[in-house]
Amino acid sequence: MWDEDGNEFIDFCCSWGPLILGHANDDVLKKVSDVMALGTSFGTPTVLETELARLIVDNHRFVEKIRFVSSGTEATMSAIRMARGYTGRNKVIKFEGCYHGHVDSLLVKAGSGLATLGTSTSAGIPEGFANETIVLPLNDTIAIDEAISSYGNDIACIIIEPIPANNGLLLQDKEFLTYLRKVCSDNGILLFFDEVISGFRVGFEGAAGLYDIEPDIMAFGKIIGGGFPVGAYAAKKEIMSHISPEGPVYQAGTLSGNPVAMAAGIAQLTACLQDGFYEQMESKTAEFVNNIQSFADENKLPFHMFHVGSVFWASFSNKNRVQNADDIDPNSADRFKHFFDELIARGVYIGPSGYEVGFVSAAHTAEDLQTAADAFKSALAIAYGI
Ligand code: PMP
Repeated sequence: MWDEDGNEFIDFCCSWGPLILGHANDDVLKKVSDVMALGTSFGTPTVLETELARLIVDNHRFVEKIRFVSSGTEATMSAIRMARGYTGRNKVIKFEGCYHGHVDSLLVKAGSGLATLGTSTSAGIPEGFANETIVLPLNDTIAIDEAISSYGNDIACIIIEPIPANNGLLLQDKEFLTYLRKVCSDNGILLFFDEVISGFRVGFEGAAGLYDIEPDIMAFGKIIGGGFPVGAYAAKKEIMSHISPEGPVYQAGTLSGNPVAMAAGIAQLTACLQDGFYEQMESKTAEFVNNIQSFADENKLPFHMFHVGSVFWASFSNKNRVQNADDIDPNSADRFKHFFDELIARGVYIGPSGYEVGFVSAAHTAEDLQTAADAFKSALAIAYGI
């Protein structure tokens, strides 16, 4: 990536995750420009929308039907409405530190930019909206049991980032996710995996595939749009049939499913489906992370790199398990600022917050990763004063 002054960076923000093939990928650009020459939006379905849907339905065990929208926020917002319409219930359980876009009722203890700004909830949200949201700590089955015994009959869904990646990378135990699956099934609650980051990132089937847990609803975004504005939500046909025009839950969008974004998504997901794609992404990310971690260990720095698939997070603490938003020391942000400036000075760009994860793309070469790892090491040495 080059900035306006011509400085070159190895980029690990990758537009916050969509660019799994890197910037300006040839296949994506070719498909987009071929399609764009025919028109950019028609306000009526095109076969490209069906093609992208088919690509996902055929290769994802848990997606029976999918609806395209234009952002991750729209996807979670619409899917929550669907969950309420389907169950006839009002309340939603979410978890501290999980971000689901800037949906009013979900901007409570939400991570992402809010974590960086040191606030937990946005202004401008009527109390009545937030009252419908029950916020619980991650990885705490007792809190779930208590919430269900108090509000069970009015809980429409439990929404979670199955790989929470907006407040650091708070990797959950599979047992916790399995527990959520069970309590949802037992209590008529829909289990909603927000896979806007993890979907098509940790594997084509995202976290649901990785943990082998079937959610009732999924939200997607980022990677499925190949760098264009796209989101989607998906579920079994029975649930999706509640969406208009088939069912009574209204949702629409002028540019939803537009051919340009669909074309980019088709090109990108086709590349992701190639044999060995995710294995390669995982192994080069592991090598990159281990390279940096060895340096931190040799120098006894209180620092830990977490990763899953091609997502990583640099944590400025020596805890090797961080599973709750509260486990992160807010003072570690100061160390991050210093580290970030030193990385920038060495031509490496990551998201400008200690709470954000980084993304390795298929375009990062072994040489790029070695150069970047060296920059991480010297930036760490300076940030820790060694
Ligand atoms: N859900 C999750 C898990 C996300 O990480 C994000 C964005 N980072 C969203 C929803 C919202 O997506 P968008 O920014 O496209 O509205």
